[in-house]
Amino acid sequence: MSSDALVTLAADLIRAPSPSGHESPAAAVLLEAFRELGFDEARLDEAGNALGVLRRGDGPVVMFNGHLDTVPVGDPALWPQPPLSGAVVDGRLWGRGAVDMKSALACMTLAAADAAADGFRGTLVVAGVVQEEVGGLGARVLGERLPVDVVVLGEPSGLDLMLGHRGRIELEVRFPGRIAHAAKAELGDNALYHVMRFLQGLERVALPSGGPLVGSSATPTGLVTYPEGGANVVPGSAVLTVDYRTIPGDDEAAVLRRLADLADEAGVEVSIPTERAISEDGTLQRSFPRTVGPYLAPGESPRIDAARGALREALGRAGRTPAERTWWFATDAPHLARSGAVVVGFGPGDAELAHTTDESVEVAELELARQGYRALAHAYLREAVD
Ligand SMILES: [Zn+2]
Repeated sequence: MSSDALVTLAADLIRAPSPSGHESPAAAVLLEAFRELGFDEARLDEAGNALGVLRRGDGPVVMFNGHLDTVPVGDPALWPQPPLSGAVVDGRLWGRGAVDMKSALACMTLAAADAAADGFRGTLVVAGVVQEEVGGLGARVLGERLPVDVVVLGEPSGLDLMLGHRGRIELEVRFPGRIAHAAKAELGDNALYHVMRFLQGLERVALPSGGPLVGSSATPTGLVTYPEGGANVVPGSAVLTVDYRTIPGDDEAAVLRRLADLADEAGVEVSIPTERAISEDGTLQRSFPRTVGPYLAPGESPRIDAARGALREALGRAGRTPAERTWWFATDAPHLARSGAVVVGFGPGDAELAHTTDESVEVAELELARQGYRALAHAYLREAVD
């Protein structure tokens, strides 16, 4: 298929709005593409993930994976191009999902069809998963069910090879206090002063560091006081949210232990909130802590060498040399690696444009991404080709 078909599919996906939990319009576009391109199977699983499968006999199972959901578009007036237009302007494809990550799904879909036309042995799955931006229900379900040898994750990498990222733990800190009239504050116990002391301690706490993922971090991101909107009331309680990023070894228990002294001093309770996820059709429900682990691909592995070689060759033809990096944001990789799969990251687009009103990607980069995915399919599925 031509590169027009690639841009058309990416634009069609952008035009199908798919905020987290409401991905079915975009899933329908992807399933239609799988059917048109002659995939052996095109179906939704119980979480609402869109799966396209190409079966070519015994051999490895490789999954191209991307998420269908996007963050909200926000105020459309702030966008240089309408956020659901899929417009191509000056060689760039615009809209919510252009970078994160509908373009990658389009590239993966066409590359899988290219690889099938070339011939391979094994199974190639293209998966458009749901709810990545809100806890990863789709990838969690997929990671449990589908035995896969290699996952190629298409989160934006600017066509570099990505080998991991830090984990994320959401922390909720509950502060006690006593309500009073603000004009008679001495009768109360202002929860905000407890918050202040806790934050001063948090800023100074020593966090683990070292290795390719550099170090853990703790960033306060939200504060709610109670009663809410009580501008003339001494708050009687407060809830602080902290976004904690982890390196390997810094798990939930270690993080809670590290903050225990601070919590005791402030007389507060630190906990990890529970996410209650439900599939769009309401049939699948899951509860899990709001955490995602760190992911680090094995340093020395034939599967990483294969990705390295395939991408160098495919992109080298266009004069590009892919660097090796880690993502600065968390992804579905830890969920997808659960069954022992190696996850390698490669995708079009500049991640710094994700979630912004400037979300757009160079059309030329999409064609290169497609070639990169095709080369990765062959690198993992070629050894058994007749
Ligand atoms: Zn993403």
